[in-house]
Amino acid sequence: MNWVLEGGLLVDPSRGRVEAASLGVASGKIAKTQDGERIDVSGCVVIPGNVCAHHHLYSALARGMPGPEEPPRTFPEILDRIWWRLDRALDPETIRLSARLGAVEAARAGTTSIVDHHASPEAIGGSLDHVADGIAEAGLRGVVCYEVTDRHGASRGREGIAENVRFLRENRRELIRGMMGAHASFTIGPDTMERLVGEARARRAPVHIHLAEDRCDERDSLERYGMRTAHRLSQAGALAQGDLVAHGVHLDEWEQRVVRDSGAWVAHNPRSNMNNGVGYAPVVALGSRVALGTDGIDGDMFTEARTCYLKAREASWQTGPAFAVERLAAGAAIVGGMFDEPLLGTLQPGAPADLVVLEYRAPTPLTAANLPGHLMFGLTAAHVRDVMVAGRWIVRDRRHQLVDEEELAARCREAAPALWNRMEAY
Ligand SMILES: [Zn+2]
Repeated sequence: MNWVLEGGLLVDPSRGRVEAASLGVASGKIAKTQDGERIDVSGCVVIPGNVCAHHHLYSALARGMPGPEEPPRTFPEILDRIWWRLDRALDPETIRLSARLGAVEAARAGTTSIVDHHASPEAIGGSLDHVADGIAEAGLRGVVCYEVTDRHGASRGREGIAENVRFLRENRRELIRGMMGAHASFTIGPDTMERLVGEARARRAPVHIHLAEDRCDERDSLERYGMRTAHRLSQAGALAQGDLVAHGVHLDEWEQRVVRDSGAWVAHNPRSNMNNGVGYAPVVALGSRVALGTDGIDGDMFTEARTCYLKAREASWQTGPAFAVERLAAGAAIVGGMFDEPLLGTLQPGAPADLVVLEYRAPTPLTAANLPGHLMFGLTAAHVRDVMVAGRWIVRDRRHQLVDEEELAARCREAAPALWNRMEAY
């Protein structure tokens, strides 16, 4: 199906372009065509879809969940008492439901691609199909992986690797790709690390791993291996061109250089870092390959980008709004690389038609020069009217086109308390 979006303001943050023009879509791509069904987008801004570079869709049913009896006081306790109990309680049905809910909410917030990092230690085999199906049911583009860990023993570590390998081999979904997931250095022993890196490299799959999110990751690596975490990953071959590391909060200056020189991507998750009290990542020093993720909080990249800006601003006045806009745009390069679509994240002819129509009547002039100011202080997920992924409308007039949102919410309200009850067993 071909479309022509007429009367809107085309905004391409990655190229710093703003122009009043119509936009053609043909065969899933942005095109120069003027043939197709006309869509009136007057009074609207059209942007490339946002990318969440690090998500945990499995946490979508955790909203409002009762806290543990004894409140956690450290990051390892947060994992142990909350997230490592939730992920063990997941079954195939709640994995798929969580993914669908998280993906639908992301779409409604203007996010068209999700890079997910999944864990369900009691239901590992086949879990990536459930995540992928949930994302596909919502019509989004996705990159999935299973977070390999030895925290339930080395045999579960091997199961995690096998699930990544199986998915990489079997997945045929048009809009889904796979990576080799890994939890973090402090829960992965030398054998599992070697194995997962070997399998990833054999399949040319990037490694997606948490890095130095909390001090505990650095402490563990120093105690067990006599080196800092980035050094350990680098030596193991898990920090290379195209790999994706999340957080990087506690990297020292030497490690920051190692990460920059490696060609790996960094997913910065400012809201999650604040929520867990782990500290502020040295994102300016980490260079241009820093993108943004939500770490499972939600799928709203407008809010994440704004938080990125405010945190950077708090740390230094020298960082302007353009910094956060560039970080937001960087996510598209990660996903574009996975799909061999270098133009993803732009509105250029030939780019995949992943785009968002925002009902935003700019109350002050909106130009290429002041675009970052509008993105940081004006545009929000609440302005999202329509969303297209690969030429298919998945949100029109603020309603999801593929999923009945009321029915989904009703199912989730039933499934969530049962999931929370199952956590009691862990
Ligand atoms: Zn994470």
